Amino acid sequence: MTSLPLISVDPDARGRRPSMPPHHLADLDLSGRQALVTELGEPAFRAKQVSNHYFGRLVRDPERMTDLPAATRERLAGELLPTLLTPVRELACDDGATRKALWRLHDGSLVESVLMGYPDRVTVCISSQAGCGMACPFCATGQAGLTRNLSTAEIVDQAVYLAGVAASGAVSGSPPRLSHVVFMGMGEPLANYSRVVAAIRRLVAPAPEGLGLSQRHITVSTVGLVPAIRRLASEDLSVTLALSLHAPDDELRDELVPVNQRWKVSEVLDAAWDYAATTGRRVSIEYAMIKDVNDQPWRADLLGRLLAGKLAHVNLIPLNPTPGSRWDASPKPVEREFVRRLRDAGVSTTVRDTRGREIDGACGQLAAAGDTDGDSRAATA
Ligand code: SAH
Repeated sequence: MTSLPLISVDPDARGRRPSMPPHHLADLDLSGRQALVTELGEPAFRAKQVSNHYFGRLVRDPERMTDLPAATRERLAGELLPTLLTPVRELACDDGATRKALWRLHDGSLVESVLMGYPDRVTVCISSQAGCGMACPFCATGQAGLTRNLSTAEIVDQAVYLAGVAASGAVSGSPPRLSHVVFMGMGEPLANYSRVVAAIRRLVAPAPEGLGLSQRHITVSTVGLVPAIRRLASEDLSVTLALSLHAPDDELRDELVPVNQRWKVSEVLDAAWDYAATTGRRVSIEYAMIKDVNDQPWRADLLGRLLAGKLAHVNLIPLNPTPGSRWDASPKPVEREFVRRLRDAGVSTTVRDTRGREIDGACGQLAAAGDTDGDSRAATA
């Protein structure tokens, strides 16, 4: 008999080992839900009823599902809609137009989502992983590494939950209906490929199968996993692709986006142009402006040459501060010169607003930490 080495277990960590959550209606398409409901001994049409409550009416409380027999409501809701996200804290800024939600998952992992209201639309920024394995040195999420992939339903439920918040009128000055979803929260969406694609299918399927969002209003942001970008192009989905480029040259991008050591600037841009050609969608090129690191005029010119004539739009993101980062945002005149050079090269360019900075809810600030210091960082709305 072989004896196995003893592994000492930290008692605090016991029970908090990351694990996938229970199955939820949003993991399945409508026929999968019907099969599940039938297995539970209920008529198949109950799947549509529960789906309509969840996706159509944004209702998850069984008491309010009055078209279901009282005797089976609790059981059906328990089986199809187990609690996946427990709100730990919600922070607001911009007079309530930006809200960051911190969730605890069933295994204790923490993730965050951000709801952003504008006069003409409501956007949620959702997480695809707890943590992130891509290790970009300027991003807070990357610093702690990857905990685990989120399930399809854990991804979808962030959007459904915050769609409910928007529908309650909580985002003043914005329409009540969630219209846009960006995969720019924690994690690298294309590293959790099949669950993210399934989540997109739920978000765009019309109710009661899904949330009924427009494909064009969904943006998947990636560090540039080339095979996954190519696979996404073949999915018969026309979601917007955002590519986190951050440097036009391999020497610097190898450092800022370490996955560049595997897929170089030219390869990732080729994949992006093929994505644009297949889907007809303009690719968004994300570029965090980091003082004296990637903001030199010659880099703007090089970027302009790479992008000129392509179906691309540049989104410059003023670097958001993250704990322990040695970098600062570029000064405004430097940013303006960068924009000018790109536009002179014929490249459409905008500077992204820094929504949510005060609540660490802006790009790259999501770290799902500090859940015990809620009092000192209470909502400002
Ligand atoms: N993993 C994906 C999606 C998450 S981040 C990706 O990298 O694309 C969404 C965007 O915020 C990315 O473009 C990312 O590079 C950028 N970002 C990360 N940290 C940032 C920071 N500190 N300031 C500004 N943008 C940042």
